[in-house]
Amino acid sequence: MNTSERLKNLIAQYVLKYNYWGYLFSRIRRRADPGLKSIMGVAPERDGSIVLLYRPEYLDNTSDESVLTVLEHEGMHLLNKHIPRLLRIMANEMTTIIAKSKAEIWNIAADCSVNVQANIRKPIPINGRNWPVCLPERYNLPEDKITEWYFLELLKTSKTIEIVGPGGPGKKGLGYEKGGLDNHAGWQLDGVPDLSSLSRKIDGHIQDVIKDSLKTFSKDRGTLPAHIADLIQDALAPPKAPYYQIIRKLIRGTRLSKFKRSFTTVNRKRTYVFMIDDKHLPMISPFPGRKRDYTFKIVVLIDTSGSMRNEDIAEGLSGVKNIIEKDRHVHTTVLEVDAGVEKEYRVKKIRDIQFNIKGRGGTTLGPGLFRARELECDVCLAFTDGYTETINDYARKDLPKKIIWVINKDGDVSRVNRTGWVVHL
Ligand SMILES: [Zn+2]
Repeated sequence: MNTSERLKNLIAQYVLKYNYWGYLFSRIRRRADPGLKSIMGVAPERDGSIVLLYRPEYLDNTSDESVLTVLEHEGMHLLNKHIPRLLRIMANEMTTIIAKSKAEIWNIAADCSVNVQANIRKPIPINGRNWPVCLPERYNLPEDKITEWYFLELLKTSKTIEIVGPGGPGKKGLGYEKGGLDNHAGWQLDGVPDLSSLSRKIDGHIQDVIKDSLKTFSKDRGTLPAHIADLIQDALAPPKAPYYQIIRKLIRGTRLSKFKRSFTTVNRKRTYVFMIDDKHLPMISPFPGRKRDYTFKIVVLIDTSGSMRNEDIAEGLSGVKNIIEKDRHVHTTVLEVDAGVEKEYRVKKIRDIQFNIKGRGGTTLGPGLFRARELECDVCLAFTDGYTETINDYARKDLPKKIIWVINKDGDVSRVNRTGWVVHL
């Protein structure tokens, strides 16, 4: 029997034994990959689907029992949606090398969570060798944290190492030496133009596969172990667009429309300017003799009497990091507002935004908004809990042209919601 038939039969047997992993993996495409560094791995495809890759040479020399353990490990990655979650992180990075480094660290974090969830702790005999299992203990971290938590902790303690795989070697990035069960081959996609849209596609695909497998599984009256049932419930919940992506969309849209406006007023016949996207804005005016204003002014207004934390603001701005930090035409001013404007300063980097929360609640944001208007900002991002005077009552002409309200969970939108977009944390 060849390797592919054996794997197919194994999965079919799990179905007969009412083992959920059989139901899940009978719906996932499989492909032999002799170059794989480990026995198996789930990987994203460019069309938004998922494939189970396996190395025939290793699989042939591994017991059914070990294969099931590895399948369970891979299945846990799927239920946790680890691939689309990673792609979302990578989509926000401006350089490939940083994205790759973060992917390496994410993979360790993902293993730390799934091995604890599935209680996989002992080394697994594969191809005549015992493969160590990646657990939080190895990094002196506690168990039962979510993957994002491990990711941030590991980022703090990572060292500069050589990046392996495409794009490396020779390039240095942050990371750890890895020695786990699978190396998540193919999780690093080179040259995919839009990682966030791929991430959404894969997310939807995994959801369909889970839904489908669950239907048959329940019909067969299979019983799910509790830890899997919880993960499935989370995985099937309607997807939430991370709010920083909404902020990015709004800011890029505003910026783009500003340039479209300034070009189209020059000559209506030159419609080709509509083809110019955000990334390819010309640096030299295509209309000699006229000077264009390329500056784009962002005001970040922070309500320091509220309950917004520094991390929330950094997270909120992470999607527009490129625009704020890399674009020399963008000017970002921070206004810290309490009863009035307490502080005003320019920033080049998001991490330069530092403020002290007074946390008394109740504030007057009006003066901050009037100042933002005075600064002639193109867009004002206001971080607040919304406990302020009724902004909706102010004359629109006294307020900034565009306002994006970023309101935290316990916040109240009722006093601000008619003056701009509202994004919930
Ligand atoms: Zn893994």
